[in-house]
Amino acid sequence: MTHPRLAGGTTAPAHHPSPDMLASYVAGTIRAGFDLVVAAHLDTCARCRREVSRLEKLGGHLISQLDPAVMAEDALTQTLARLEEPLPAMPPQRHGLDQILANARQRWVAPGVWTAKVDTPHAQEDRVFLLRAAPGAKTARHSHAGTELTQVLEGALKDGDIIYRAGDFVELDASHTHHPSVHGDRPCLCLFATEGRLVPTDLVGRIAFAVANV
Ligand SMILES: [Zn+2]
Repeated sequence: MTHPRLAGGTTAPAHHPSPDMLASYVAGTIRAGFDLVVAAHLDTCARCRREVSRLEKLGGHLISQLDPAVMAEDALTQTLARLEEPLPAMPPQRHGLDQILANARQRWVAPGVWTAKVDTPHAQEDRVFLLRAAPGAKTARHSHAGTELTQVLEGALKDGDIIYRAGDFVELDASHTHHPSVHGDRPCLCLFATEGRLVPTDLVGRIAFAVANV
């Protein structure tokens, strides 16, 4: 199985994690499971890698300020100078995603649609899973108990009027009810992490999600 986005795509992503999400990723306070989805986005997004690098440097500076005894007199000048430096391209941090994709135990839930639970640390009530759907497939209408993160790994996803393509990151809160569908003529592969379970809003959805166990 090849994963062109993971090998480095040519189109820059158009949809990114929120500043708060990236900050919590850098601070290590991000919800377990969500870190994997953000890491998958960083694999393909130079812009967010730069932002993460900037936040890490900023965090280092703030920590150094906590102990004036060990802070060099010109630490602030040095830190500010570093913030201006061009950033080297970070090597992709796969966080085991390639392995996860290779080992995915596919559970077919409909013709052309499979899900696979992802074995990564997360809260028991949360869900972290891959979903691959054939062209034309639609998910059942649902809302969320909390935040839902999606990283599009292959293909494209249409949600309302927005098309999310490979490399794009989708961050939705509990107020969002939707039923995204596969866009275009290629299958779509996504990595999801949800806070709590998805909440189907009709009978079809309840059946579909029970079968998919998501
Ligand atoms: Zn990004």
